Amino acid sequence: MALCKKCGAEVPEGANVCPACGEPASVSAQAQNIAQDIMNTADITAECDPSDIEQNKVMGILAYIWFLFLVPLFAAPNSKFARFHANQGLVLFLADIALGIVFGILMFIFGLIPIVGLIINSILGLALSAFCLVFMILGIVNAATGKAKELPLIGKIHIIK
Ligand SMILES: [Zn+2]
Repeated sequence: MALCKKCGAEVPEGANVCPACGEPASVSAQAQNIAQDIMNTADITAECDPSDIEQNKVMGILAYIWFLFLVPLFAAPNSKFARFHANQGLVLFLADIALGIVFGILMFIFGLIPIVGLIINSILGLALSAFCLVFMILGIVNAATGKAKELPLIGKIHIIK
């Protein structure tokens, strides 16, 4: 029988949270909570007109391809669905640039180290490409399936209302 780190109550074997105070019982339960928080983003599909979604799926998809988030803003300014994805695309675009700068600086520094720096830089380059690609695919899949769902982590940021 384990004891809760927060309140000291006994936590039964296999329980995810402390029955007394709700504190996550283990590191893996804590990690699970954080992962849920990250993935648990708002879904405003129900607030969009079904015909709006049907008409503007392509606009939603374009929004995630680099600076093409501008296209839905000009081509479908009155579409809630298109604007939603334009905002997600813009946030992703800015996140890609910010990460690109941070990784660029890191890679410059690691580049000064022979051989090991090259290996580290290859891993960093792969990680950056993977992040950009995964988020882009997530967004495109959401738009293509007619969902107005925020991206994990960064989707909570709203620049375009
Ligand atoms: Zn407790």
